[in-house]
Amino acid sequence: MKVEPEYLLSRLTTIGTGGPARAFARPESLSDLETALAWAAERKLAVRTVGLGSNLLAADDGVDALVLRLAGDLADVEIDGRLLRAGGGATNAVCLHRSRDAGLGGLEFACAIPGTAGVVCG
Ligand SMILES: Cc1cc2nc3c(=O)[nH]c(=O)nc-3n(C[C@H](O)[C@H](O)[C@H](O)COP(=O)(O)OP(=O)(O)OC[C@H]3O[C@@H](n4cnc5c(N)ncnc54)[C@H](O)[C@@H]3O)c2cc1C
Repeated sequence: MKVEPEYLLSRLTTIGTGGPARAFARPESLSDLETALAWAAERKLAVRTVGLGSNLLAADDGVDALVLRLAGDLADVEIDGRLLRAGGGATNAVCLHRSRDAGLGGLEFACAIPGTAGVVCG
């Protein structure tokens, strides 16, 4: 996994604005994610995550953090019987298509929301 320095966040936001993140990476597996988090911890650097960037206004001055975009296994969607399992980086669109193909309902509300599964805290 490559860690890219000074990555322009305008490339990741729907509105197309945002200065550079100190560093940027696309972890594709749990092991990539652990490596990225360790890399940031060694440098005492904050970590932020971007989904599709559709609800983000990133500062023009940039963000002093390691910014992650979950990819690969971490954005995977699988059907397990009547259950859909989605990684945090999975897009609503892919979740919807997989649900429809499997004859599952319940996700219709998300059909017009350009976003990712993200993380639910509670
Ligand atoms: C045209 C348009 C239509 C929209 N319609 C709707 C709508 O109908 N209903 C609605 O609710 N919203 C809507 N939105 C807003 C937006 O699409 C949603 O809020 C969407 O869910 C944001 O998801 P994202 O993956 O793009 O998150 P981002 O915009 O990338 O990030 C939003 C926040 O979530 C955090 N985040 C992202 N991924 C993770 C992760 N894996 N772990 C932890 N934190 C994470 C980010 O750090 C940030 O704080 C719309 C936006 C647009 C542009």
